[in-house]
Amino acid sequence: MQLTLDLTGRDVLVTGADPAARQAVRRYRAAGAVVSRLSSPQGGPHDGPLPERPFLVAAVDDGQPGWDALLGRCRDTGIPVAVEPAAGPAGHVTLVGGGPGTAELLTVAAVAALRDADVVFYDRLAPYQDLPSLTSAELVDVGKQPGHHKVSQSGIEELMVDAALAGHNVVRLKGGDPYVFGRGGEEVAACVKAGVPVRVISGVTSAISVPAAAGIPVTHRDVSHLFTVVSGHAPLTEQEHTHLAGLGGTIVVLMGIGTLHQLAAGLRRAGMRADMPMAVVERGYRPGQRTTIADLGTITSAASDCSNPAVLVIGEVVRVAEVNRGCAEAEAELNRLAASLMGA
Ligand code: SAH
Repeated sequence: MQLTLDLTGRDVLVTGADPAARQAVRRYRAAGAVVSRLSSPQGGPHDGPLPERPFLVAAVDDGQPGWDALLGRCRDTGIPVAVEPAAGPAGHVTLVGGGPGTAELLTVAAVAALRDADVVFYDRLAPYQDLPSLTSAELVDVGKQPGHHKVSQSGIEELMVDAALAGHNVVRLKGGDPYVFGRGGEEVAACVKAGVPVRVISGVTSAISVPAAAGIPVTHRDVSHLFTVVSGHAPLTEQEHTHLAGLGGTIVVLMGIGTLHQLAAGLRRAGMRADMPMAVVERGYRPGQRTTIADLGTITSAASDCSNPAVLVIGEVVRVAEVNRGCAEAEAELNRLAASLMGA
């Protein structure tokens, strides 16, 4: 259960030892509270004078015995006690898959890792606009956009490793899944090499979720029983075109806008039918989401004004979306008709 309280200017006493309490302290400060600290149930070190009667006690579960009596006294005198999780062990990196760009598609594990972070290094494809409500960590934009890398890959790895070695909990928030064209493997290797503990939280990949946002299932019974996810970052080889065309399933291409023309021409040369359905889904789950549907022979001109980020889908499954959309439109039309007849 989550409750929202306006804590602006309110006295909040955070109980619990450092460093377990550090994130709770930051969270309450970020919420505008006047925070005082009590690090030990025996009245041990604290910052500044303790408030006589705090508005709220935030009790961090730091594993020390002896808090129960103090918290019990608070409750008995009517001071609310909010139980706060302890910060995780300090000095590690978590690579978090942020999904295709909406906070709604973050996993529960991703939300927990963000809450436990001291610093977050994020990409523009992750749902970064929502970060201030998900974490009180320092937010660092390492803004990877196609062709515009604010910070180089080795620079990002160095930042992550240095922050973890300085004792911070680091979240590296990436778009989609960290291991799908996300250089997650390299970032894990950099941490391992530096002796920094690292873990990976999988995310919802755009390869599946962005087509779904356009109503396209990447597999569909009796239509396609396999899908291949390809990077269009660089043009494919003739051999790759031949293999892809020969597979017969759905082809999903990420980072494919810049090489769309070469891909369509290559698949045609490899024998794929010109009327094979194809879709370009731009900005999935974001304002301005747009789907362009054409076929292999016409896509280059149909998608001439399409831009990144976009996912390309080639295969008969594109028709499933069209049929479903047709059904939805037909149903809406029937409903409109029924409503007008009822009104008549
Ligand atoms: N690791 C990511 C992919 C990184 S490559 C994942 O699993 O989703 C970056 C490419 O992902 C973009 O060029 C685009 O092809 C695709 N992409 C990511 N988010 C997208 C979105 N919201 N809408 C459309 N395409 C997206």
